Amino acid sequence: MTESSELKFLRGVLRERFDKVIKNNQIALAEIKKIENDYESFPHINCIEFNDESSTLFKSLKDLFEEKFKHLKCESQEFKKMFGDLNFKQAFCYSYFTDKQYRCCFCGQLLEISKKNDKEFVHADIEHILPKSKYPQFALHPDNFAPACKECNQGEKGDKFFDTFDEFKKALSQLNVNLTDKPLKLWKNYSFDFSKLSKTKLKLNYLNKESEGYKLIEYYGIPKRADIIISHCYDILFNIIKHSDIRSPASLERLLENMASSNWHELNDGYSINNSPQIWQEFLEWILYSESNLVALWEEVKDYSRNVNNYLIT
Ligand SMILES: [Zn+2]
Repeated sequence: MTESSELKFLRGVLRERFDKVIKNNQIALAEIKKIENDYESFPHINCIEFNDESSTLFKSLKDLFEEKFKHLKCESQEFKKMFGDLNFKQAFCYSYFTDKQYRCCFCGQLLEISKKNDKEFVHADIEHILPKSKYPQFALHPDNFAPACKECNQGEKGDKFFDTFDEFKKALSQLNVNLTDKPLKLWKNYSFDFSKLSKTKLKLNYLNKESEGYKLIEYYGIPKRADIIISHCYDILFNIIKHSDIRSPASLERLLENMASSNWHELNDGYSINNSPQIWQEFLEWILYSESNLVALWEEVKDYSRNVNNYLIT
């Protein structure tokens, strides 16, 4: 895929910011070389040279790069001409995440599209694939950016990334992910287990919990997100049931079928789960396609209605 002029321009801006950080500080030439090598070879990278986390230089650069990323902006004429009123991160989403069906790389939910003047762009948070805290040299690298939904970006992350870069590479290969793939689709590796009884809501067909791949997913906080997403599905469902006159398993089934039918989530915006109609749909089908799941839900509905005393099912 050839790069658009907008993306090339943004790459240039990021590179210039990166240079500013390393050149305006008192860094030994040998260190500068390492940091530059890392930056230039990313994402085709075999070893990372700059990772002495205990050094004072590492700590000060970590702060500087993080700061620069947090306050990314560009006020040049050229930027204005290309992107109008968009801020830097929006401009990045506009030129980089060009597929309008963009999904959060972690949970897989569709991301919203925003519009400013005539520019449509994916409304995403920018997440770093390699964490800035451990690899600050990639804090300003466009290929280290991935689009994520707000919930995933702000969700609780694991406290420890891998000790070595090799483990990270192993994780990527177990997950069939290549850093050069755009967009990153970690979510392709798993599905959700909707059963209320199951402890693990994230289903990974082939990875065990000791594998690097699973640890990476855990680092990004995805198992916890799965718990939240699924409990949200149940909350929404019970909220709907509360407002419906359900008095028999058959009427429960009819309600679910109506919900699963096309465009229901669009007509009932407030009940959809953010932009995850596909998760919601899977959830409904999971109940509808299994007699025992439907029966279990019916039992819950009965308990629920007894407790809220909304109406009495006998
Ligand atoms: Zn997400």
